[in-house]
Amino acid sequence: MRLRNVAGSREAISESRFVIQNPKEQKNHWKELFGNSNPIQIEIGMGKGRFIMDMARLHPDINYVGIEKYSSVLIRGIQKMEIEELPNLYFIRMDAEEITEVFGQGEVAKIYLNFSDPWPKDRHAKRRLPSREFLARYHEILDKEGNLEFKTDNKDLFTFALEELEPAGWKLDQVTYDLHHDEVMMEGNVMTEYEERFSSMGNPIYKYIISR
Ligand code: SAM
Repeated sequence: MRLRNVAGSREAISESRFVIQNPKEQKNHWKELFGNSNPIQIEIGMGKGRFIMDMARLHPDINYVGIEKYSSVLIRGIQKMEIEELPNLYFIRMDAEEITEVFGQGEVAKIYLNFSDPWPKDRHAKRRLPSREFLARYHEILDKEGNLEFKTDNKDLFTFALEELEPAGWKLDQVTYDLHHDEVMMEGNVMTEYEERFSSMGNPIYKYIISR
């Protein structure tokens, strides 16, 4: 993602009631924050938040947490929440490397990774969100029955993600190499910003659903 410094975004985020300011203090207490025991689903690398906001609007009985590393991107989601507040959605600005410090064991029902950064250099493989290192972190926070959904148009990243499953002890439940022409997996699909951009250019969208 091309990042422009958005003046004042850090300050706006630090004052926003839509952002959890000390997420580590929330570990094992997310249900209390939402004030109900609905399942919690998270998107890691939410960008400007279109997907997670659409999901929260469509599924009021599910709680959502959107995680984004960069203030300059997250600020766009906050601006949208100021226009349309969704009671079942919060944001966190953090690097997902620390995710196990923010959610307790089994506290998350589902994880979404959408158009994650590819980190093409081999020496950066550990930073890829579907890498075995991240899958080990997701294993800790995800409910036993929980699963993870990953979409991308990047073939190399998708091939890498598939190869990581076995060594990480995960199994492939569903897969498609052309989501937008797959009637079954397309059902209920909510588009992300990147998905709209790349699918309109004719790129096929790859998707898997995995569990332990
Ligand atoms: N998910 C959105 C979509 O599909 O439109 C945005 C995709 S964008 C290519 C990837 C986003 O993931 C960027 O906003 C980036 O800052 C964020 N990201 C990458 N690595 C991250 C990490 N380790 N922790 C949190 N966010 C991360």
